[in-house]
Amino acid sequence: MPAEPHLHAPGEGAGSELSPLELRVRALETVLSEKGYIVPEALDRIVEAFETKIGPHRGAKIVAKAWVDPEFKRRLVADAGDAINALGEFGPIGVHLLALENTPQRHNLVVCTLCSCYPWDLLGLPPFWYKSAPYRSRVVIDPRGLLEEFGLSLPSDVEIRVSDSTAETRLFVLPMRPQGTEGWSEEALARLVTRDSMIGTGLPLRPHEVSP
Ligand code: FE
Repeated sequence: MPAEPHLHAPGEGAGSELSPLELRVRALETVLSEKGYIVPEALDRIVEAFETKIGPHRGAKIVAKAWVDPEFKRRLVADAGDAINALGEFGPIGVHLLALENTPQRHNLVVCTLCSCYPWDLLGLPPFWYKSAPYRSRVVIDPRGLLEEFGLSLPSDVEIRVSDSTAETRLFVLPMRPQGTEGWSEEALARLVTRDSMIGTGLPLRPHEVSP
């Protein structure tokens, strides 16, 4: 997995076992459950679902399918929500979802400059940096430099297109299929698809980067 850049606030996560954000969440949860507004067990089940059932592996399956099935890919790029819902494999995608296709000439990068809109249905919980102000601003000012911080250097003739998510439209990147994967099964291909490759801050793994 590519290294994540250091976009967190100074001091965050250092020194104590829980970050200030985690302490704040814990305090809020305690107060809300003491007042009877939330049931902690129900909250745990929702979080668990996002951690174990709904996650980037869903998006990875979709991307792998698009790599082997040109007709599915056509439908996915036309309207990702419709194409995924037609599969019937996952719970219904309730938002307008678009797939942004990478090509040798164009690399897509997804952000929500306003807040933190993210394709939860497909990718699960967003990474902490996705919601951070440095990511949301730098991705617009200097996308190429930002990608380099993520360890991704793209040739200068590749256009980097930054797309802004909204509450109405969620976006994900359809990365290019890595070379050397001819004849691979969908299942094997899905193991190459990382979360970051579907946000645009990374590329899929290459065949030698996964264990056989
Ligand atoms: Fe947002």
